[in-house]
Amino acid sequence: MNFTFTPPAPASVAIAGSDEFFPVHRIYCIGRNYADHAKEMGMPVERGTPLFFCKPADAVVVDGATIPFPSATNDLHHEVEMVVALHSGGTHIAEEDARKHVFAYGVGIDLTRRDLQAAAKAKGNPWDVAKAFDNSAPTSALRRASEIGHPDHASLSLEVNGEQRQHSDIDQMLFSVPQIIAELSKLFELKAGDLIFTGTPAGVAALKPGDAWHARLAGIAELRGRLA
Ligand code: MN
Repeated sequence: MNFTFTPPAPASVAIAGSDEFFPVHRIYCIGRNYADHAKEMGMPVERGTPLFFCKPADAVVVDGATIPFPSATNDLHHEVEMVVALHSGGTHIAEEDARKHVFAYGVGIDLTRRDLQAAAKAKGNPWDVAKAFDNSAPTSALRRASEIGHPDHASLSLEVNGEQRQHSDIDQMLFSVPQIIAELSKLFELKAGDLIFTGTPAGVAALKPGDAWHARLAGIAELRGRLA
């Protein structure tokens, strides 16, 4: 095809134990998916209708990277989350069929400009500037489901500068992975290459320039990185 300029290579994430890379199509995120986090945000704890938002694919940051401190915020927060990677998709996927679309699992951080999110919430504005900014989706290498199966329980934790900030288990999610896939696929056509950030437990807090993170989904994935 005769493009007017060379299109950029797709954003990608490493696949653990392999020299292959997972090309990222879209990044979907669910909000308020752990009761303790909904509570700390002052929101009612209810399953209700799931809250979804997106980040651009090229917001992905690979394991071990140092990123610049984001512009336009004085309150950059970490949200450690299990990440689900799809190798197929569709629309109106039934819950019981959802897992066959999952290629791999990882751990990521949904970086959030909390001050801009609070302002958006107050005005009823969209969350894009709070959630979908450059480098807002650090993501670990992915572990194939063909290797580890589909975890129902796994410790999910985040240390910043060696100190634990967040710790929970993925069994605390209000919407399970199959439920998230089923719900998302009612709204979007899911595709191979999609990543889903599955929500964060309590303990979200501010990051400062120079802070280093170490996120863990026990037995599955680890992610390190830092702010310049
Ligand atoms: Mn989040």
